[in-house]
Amino acid sequence: MALKESEAIVLRTYPLRESDLLVTLFTRLEGKVKGVARAAKKSKRRFGGALEPLTYVRAFYDDRERQELARLDSCEVIESPMATEISYSRAVALGHVAELLDELLPDREASDAVFRLSLAVLRELRGAALWMPITYFELWMTRLMGFLPEFTECVVCGRSLEGSRAFYHALVDGLMCRDDKRVASSELSPESRKIAAQMLRSRVSEFAEIDWPKAVGSDLRKFLLQILERHIEKKLVTAGMLEKIGS
Ligand SMILES: [Zn+2]
Repeated sequence: MALKESEAIVLRTYPLRESDLLVTLFTRLEGKVKGVARAAKKSKRRFGGALEPLTYVRAFYDDRERQELARLDSCEVIESPMATEISYSRAVALGHVAELLDELLPDREASDAVFRLSLAVLRELRGAALWMPITYFELWMTRLMGFLPEFTECVVCGRSLEGSRAFYHALVDGLMCRDDKRVASSELSPESRKIAAQMLRSRVSEFAEIDWPKAVGSDLRKFLLQILERHIEKKLVTAGMLEKIGS
């Protein structure tokens, strides 16, 4: 049987037996694919450096009858995040992108929009910028997964939130006006709502020149992560790690 060939982003690898690796790939061809890379730890020729998380690769694989896991034949590096030096905060940011893709994408369902988003955000994460690409990625993943609520009206009474305060709560889908907010709600600032609106109609590269400390959009990220965690019904490991990183 002919090998399938696809651009892919490596999401995770786990050691399997002595020298094999279990690899999760986000392929352009058919979405998230899990496969076994035989003797990957020994074979520099077939996999040399290509299985580091978030490497953009060309993957060759095939499916075996009655087996859930694909057989990963080889990978060629197209672009590696290791090409530039990796700081701890950048490693956490890359891990966050990988975790979101791994948790949110269904198996074997292609999404060119998510693939293009991921490549564009990974490109921005090569520079010094951290919080801008993360915010952009979380926002667009929430939208592309179909979880993003309306920013302009109260989810309870339908009143417009333009020019007034907006609140969110871990157990509520959407923003609430001052009258309908629940106890222990947090506020989503007008600045962050404006940033979200701008990001939803712009490319990530358009924000590249903006100085973006951690405080910018932090309420927006908290709001988005609450939505995402509610849908996957678990806490994101990398969310806690990001929280501990300084400005
Ligand atoms: Zn309301």
